[in-house]
Amino acid sequence: NRRFVLAQRPQGEPDADTLRLEEAARPEPGEGEILLRTVFLSLDPYMRGRMSDAPSYAAPVEVGETMVGGTVARVVESRHDGFAEGDWVVSFNGWQDYAISDGKELVKLGATPEHPSWALGILGMPGFTAWAGLTQIGAPKTGETLVVAAATGPVGATVGQIGKILGCRVVGIAGGQEKCAYGVDELGFDACLDHKADDLKGRLKEACPDGIDIYFENVGGKVLDAVIPLLNREARVPVCGLVSQYNATALPDGPDRMNWLMGQILRKQLTVRGFIIFQNFSHLYPEFAKAMTGWIGAGRISYREEMIDGLEAAPQAFIGLLRGENFGKRVIRVGPD
Ligand code: NDP
Repeated sequence: NRRFVLAQRPQGEPDADTLRLEEAARPEPGEGEILLRTVFLSLDPYMRGRMSDAPSYAAPVEVGETMVGGTVARVVESRHDGFAEGDWVVSFNGWQDYAISDGKELVKLGATPEHPSWALGILGMPGFTAWAGLTQIGAPKTGETLVVAAATGPVGATVGQIGKILGCRVVGIAGGQEKCAYGVDELGFDACLDHKADDLKGRLKEACPDGIDIYFENVGGKVLDAVIPLLNREARVPVCGLVSQYNATALPDGPDRMNWLMGQILRKQLTVRGFIIFQNFSHLYPEFAKAMTGWIGAGRISYREEMIDGLEAAPQAFIGLLRGENFGKRVIRVGPD
């Protein structure tokens, strides 16, 4: 059983010394347990938070422990009545080949799921995050302007596409020309702006002639700076993530703008609400799954996955994810299916 453990807590960007590959004996299932073989490992920005021991909504991974992560796995041995050998499940095996489960936290995908890895993306946590944050906090209305960054990633691409389905004008923000072209041509956004090019503020103003009614916050940093002055009265800001800050070791220099920001919230009567998907919205999962399955079936949602082979590739692929090197949902193919 190969596994990556947290070797040391990163200062700033994780590097080659952050995670360590270890070999351990393959675990044996006890009575009422099953042995799972990881087939797909999801890489997600929240993993950076788990490497740190700063206070957060979830406990950190301890140094020496297996790195956590969502997985799609197959049952290779079952001593549990509810699971048969060969079954596919969504599990939380972490960055390793095998894991033992008592079945309680597993989601069954059956014996022959059509796209098993999609349970880590469009039909799983990121897709659900997009849908719940947008519908429950963003509360979109026809004709409103929605802005979302990390707009070709699994959350942002889904937010933007649902926004279009619900009748919004959608402006994506992404890193680079290729991603921006994909945002317009494939995802159907009204505009998609490159945050690496000059004058984001000016271009965003041009792309949002009626201001911004919903800003789905994924990244923070200079994108947030460009958005705030354009927010309309009673705009909604679902605060989903701040990926541009995850490797930061200190607050940026510059004037303290805390009171300016509070003034914007007050005068424009903004709703700014953070959420942690499974802590706030798990009860809505069935509603999401029904809606999303319908949209996918009707060809109204496009989903891009970036599959990378081999558990050993996971650390570098994760470092690249936080740099924006991914184009679509990053998944590691750990084992044979
Ligand atoms: P992505 O696959 O979109 O990966 C992150 C992307 O962020 C990169 O590809 C890059 O895209 C963009 N990015 C990185 N650095 C910067 C920067 N400095 N400025 C602007 N953009 C940057 O990730 P996900 O779709 O999985 O997640 C999106 C967000 O949602 C994250 O913040 C994540 O933490 C959050 N999230 C929150 C959840 C919750 O419950 N609150 C649950 C799931 C996700 P590009 O090249 O286009 O800039």
